[in-house]
Amino acid sequence: MRCEHCNIDSNNVRTYAFWYGKLIHKDITREVDLIGPEYIKTTINHYKIKGCTEVDICDKCLIKPNAELNMLCGSLVVFITAYAIIVSYPPTGILYYFLVLLFGCLLLIRGLIQYWKIIKGHKFSSLYYSLIKEKGDKMAIRMFKASLEKEGYDAFFSTAEHKKLMEY
Ligand SMILES: [Zn+2]
Repeated sequence: MRCEHCNIDSNNVRTYAFWYGKLIHKDITREVDLIGPEYIKTTINHYKIKGCTEVDICDKCLIKPNAELNMLCGSLVVFITAYAIIVSYPPTGILYYFLVLLFGCLLLIRGLIQYWKIIKGHKFSSLYYSLIKEKGDKMAIRMFKASLEKEGYDAFFSTAEHKKLMEY
């Protein structure tokens, strides 16, 4: 399957989806707040959903930026904490430093594992897929938002958001 983001054929392409439409009107209701003098304002937006678009995105395009962010943040946390320990040696509150350092290390390791799996073309499990589905839908929205906005659409929802919307 071909990834619509990088335009490269890959075995690790998954289909994400988003819904789009227009905001028709806003209902603003005011209710008396029994505790304070203020009113509680509730806004209910009404949308007209035009359709659903499915977008094929490869794991590399979706997960690699996240892996890089995890590696960068993890490295920064480890570096800053190590620096703080050296500067204030012997440090007071060693447990606090240890926990922050552990958090940084875990973040860094998580990023490295994700990055390594992407490079190796690892096939992620369906459980992982369900965890990143929302992220994929949001990426699909970012890819097509500008062109759909030119057509006059101003409301975009991931599959989960659309499902929630339908419940009201
Ligand atoms: Zn791609």
